[in-house]
Amino acid sequence: MIDFTDKVVLITGGGSGLGRAAALSIAKQGAKLVLVDMNKASLEETKNEVLQASPEAAIELFEANVTNEEEVKNYVQFTVDTFGKIDGFFNNAGIEGKQNLTENYGSDEFEKVISVNLNGVFYGMKHVLKVMKEQGSGSIVNTASVGGIRGVGNQSGYAASKHGVVGLTRNSGVEYGEFGISINAIAPGAIMTPMVEGSLKQIGGDDWEAVGKEFVSVNPMKRFGKPEEVGNLVAFLLSDSSRFINASVINIDGGQSYKY
Ligand code: NAD
Repeated sequence: MIDFTDKVVLITGGGSGLGRAAALSIAKQGAKLVLVDMNKASLEETKNEVLQASPEAAIELFEANVTNEEEVKNYVQFTVDTFGKIDGFFNNAGIEGKQNLTENYGSDEFEKVISVNLNGVFYGMKHVLKVMKEQGSGSIVNTASVGGIRGVGNQSGYAASKHGVVGLTRNSGVEYGEFGISINAIAPGAIMTPMVEGSLKQIGGDDWEAVGKEFVSVNPMKRFGKPEEVGNLVAFLLSDSSRFINASVINIDGGQSYKY
C-alpha cells in the first residue's frame, strides 16, 4: 500500500520529465507537494496537470536554481514554513550536457554539469537532512542514471556527476539510517523525456527518431521507459512501504545495464 495522506513531498526538477511524473504519481496518493525548478512556466504546466488528475491536491511551486546553495536553503525553508515538515524528497533536477570525447569535452561544460547534477544534489541533501533528522523520519531519492553505474561514453561530466550521486547516496544512507531516514538513488536507463529527446537530437539531428529506434533495439525490452514508470518507483521509494531499503541504487532500465 502506498499512501501519502498527510505527507509532504518536495521535488526538484518538478517542471518536466521524471520530476513531473513523480509529482503526478505522488499527488494521486494524497501528498502535499512543493515543486522546485528554474523554469517557472514548466512548473505551472506541471501544476495544471497535477490538478487535472488530482483536483484536491495541495501543491506549491518554488522557482530556484539548485546550483545556488542559498536558493536551495530557501526552497527547503519554504517547504517547512508552508507545510511544517518534509517526509519525502525527490532530489532530481539534472542536465545531460553536450556530448563529446573526453579530450574534446569542454571544461566549462564539465563544471556546469557537475554543478547542477552533483553540487545541486549535495546541497539538497545537506539542507533537507537537517529537517529530517530533527523529525526523526524521512526518505530521499536521488536521481543517478545508468551513466552513474556504467561507462556510457561521450559523457565525462554526466558520468562523473552521476557516479558522484551514487557515492553521496551510499555515504549519507550509511550515516542517517539510525535516524529513521532512508536515502536511495535510482539509475534510470533511457526514459522518453525532453532530456532524452535532446540527447537523441545531439546524435541524430533531424533523424533523431531513427537513432532512438536503433538505440532501444538493444534493450531487452526493446523500448524506452515511460516517465510514469519512474514516477511510480519514486513514489514507492518515498513511501512507508519501502522503509528498509537504504543506501541502495535501484536500476530502472529494462535490464539494459546488465547487457553492456
Ligand atoms: P528534463 O529535462 O525533462 O527535466 C529536468 C528538469 O530539471 C527541467 O524541468 C529543468 O528545468 C530542471 N533543471 C535543470 N537544471 C536545473 C537547475 N540548475 N535548477 C533547477 N532546476 C533545473 O529531464 P528528465 O529526463 O526528467 O531528467 C530528470 C533527472 O533524471 C536528471 O537528473 C537526469 O539526469 C536523470 N535521468 C534521466 C534519464 C532519462 O532517460 N530521461 C535517465 C537517467 C537519468
